[in-house]
Amino acid sequence: MILHGKPVQERVLAEVKAGVDRLRASRGVTPGLAVVLVGDDPASHVYVGHKKRAADTVGITAHDCRYPEGLGQRELEDLLRSLSADPGVHGILLQLPLPTGLDEAAALAAIAPDKDVDGLHPTNLGRLLAGEPGTVPCTPSGCLAILDHYGATLEGAEAVMVGRSRLVGKPLAQLLLARHATVTMCHSRTRDLAFHTRRADVLCVAAGRPRMITGDMVKEGAWVIDVGVNRLSTGKLAGDVDFDSVSPRAAGITPVPGGVGLLTIAMLLKNTLAAAQRQSA
Ligand code: NAP
Repeated sequence: MILHGKPVQERVLAEVKAGVDRLRASRGVTPGLAVVLVGDDPASHVYVGHKKRAADTVGITAHDCRYPEGLGQRELEDLLRSLSADPGVHGILLQLPLPTGLDEAAALAAIAPDKDVDGLHPTNLGRLLAGEPGTVPCTPSGCLAILDHYGATLEGAEAVMVGRSRLVGKPLAQLLLARHATVTMCHSRTRDLAFHTRRADVLCVAAGRPRMITGDMVKEGAWVIDVGVNRLSTGKLAGDVDFDSVSPRAAGITPVPGGVGLLTIAMLLKNTLAAAQRQSA
């Protein structure tokens, strides 16, 4: 089965739109999302444009905060603190990566945890680890939404996470653990990657290595979530999983494009609505 992201995305966006309408009707509050972009990386400008358009479609007001390369660390942190104090802004998204010379971790820490709709502030990552309510990073929660939508069993499953980034691998492993999967984390120093991936009932891959997971590395009947987005020299996009050799063996597999990527922005908007609900309660 191909685990298309579209129906999951549509369902999440419809729920967010309904929630935004209810918040406006009951409290007179329109959720506001500040999108902060520093520098002129063309891909980042494209992503930010997508996020703003998606916000519009669900009734969230996106505030465009674009700054040229050369913005200093102190100025960036001051800006994030002043957005954190602005009652019209319920969520703050800092588009990563930042230009060289800016400290991402320090910048993320300058965002108020309650407005950190990317879920990357140390407080929110800590809450995830502690099993307390908080904002969960968007791409990992999108992966879980896909698994749930298509009916994968997580409790008791052998789940293998390839990749251990702060953005994807670590939070996704925590989410799987919270759902009672037995989780193994693999990374670039893992000795025998295929030994681990072949045991997986649920295999999640976020390594940024085009088509590195091949059919012989996947157990028959596994659920495969491919987070990777890699631009090939041909200009085409490829995931971290070799779709052609893995899909005949998998119970379900996400395509690239058209899989996990569609959920990331939807989850960002869901987090923004939740932040606005909390702040106007
Ligand atoms: P990252 O920060 O570069 O982390 C990659 C991780 O993969 C690292 O933990 C690394 O291990 C591990 N890794 C690299 N090569 C490996 C190998 N040969 N075997 C096993 N593990 C290996 O990347 P990321 O931000 O997590 O992103 C991963 C991929 O997901 C990228 O293609 C990115 O574009 C994509 N992505 C997609 C979305 C979306 O919305 N669809 C969102 C975020 C990211 P070490 O820690 O040992 O270096």
